[in-house]
Amino acid sequence: MKLGMVIDLQKCVGCGGCDLACKTENNTPDDIHWSHHITETQGTFPNVRYSYTPTLCNHCDNAACVEVCPTGAMYKADNGLTLHHSEDCIGCQRCVKACPYQAIGFNRTVPHRQWQDDSELVPGGTASPKMVLDRTGAKHSPLENPERGDTYPVTRPRRTVEKCTLCDHRLNVGLSPACVTACPSGARVVGDLDDPQSEVSRLIKLHAPRQLKPEAGTKPNVYYIRTFGVRQS
Ligand code: SF4
Ligand code: SF4
Repeated sequence: MKLGMVIDLQKCVGCGGCDLACKTENNTPDDIHWSHHITETQGTFPNVRYSYTPTLCNHCDNAACVEVCPTGAMYKADNGLTLHHSEDCIGCQRCVKACPYQAIGFNRTVPHRQWQDDSELVPGGTASPKMVLDRTGAKHSPLENPERGDTYPVTRPRRTVEKCTLCDHRLNVGLSPACVTACPSGARVVGDLDDPQSEVSRLIKLHAPRQLKPEAGTKPNVYYIRTFGVRQS
């Protein structure tokens, strides 16, 4: 089995729902985006063409991030996903530099640390973020992500890297990744690239698929078909 994704750019409406769904599901810190996008504007008014390309970790066959990792923290799983053991990560960021797609983020500080802030905006008049958590009796603070606990640390460690896991915790229980489920136009399809009968294989056969930066030699497993915003037959 080799899991991968096909993104139909003609179906994509550029709403960014995938990015928001990923943030919600994976509780990523403000400056880290497991699901992201590239926008491009070409031409001059009134002949302007805008394009939107959703991006994520490509779960590459020749994963540059895995090759350079000195501890084996970044690794290829049997199902083709590129995953990360944060407890083995020493935060050297070699993977960050090696990835041609800027798909890996580095936690410089404790993520969502603002919820540890105990200072009030108006002393005695407003509540600090920490007081809100304490007084509401919140079982889990935004620092934590218990829903991901099966395959990922509930509280992210500082000075380690992180990236898209293709929602392996959801795939493991028969659900699609959050970005796939949230996409209002069904532009994202995930499946087994080794299975010729799978929907991803069918789409790749039907259209002329493209990968991002094929010249990097990483053999990405995220394929793009058709074109954003342009009707094609
Ligand atoms: Fe590694 Fe980057 Fe490829 Fe993801 S996209 S597998 S982080 S090289
Ligand atoms: Fe490996 Fe962590 Fe270094 Fe990346 S930052 S290369 S995952 S040890």
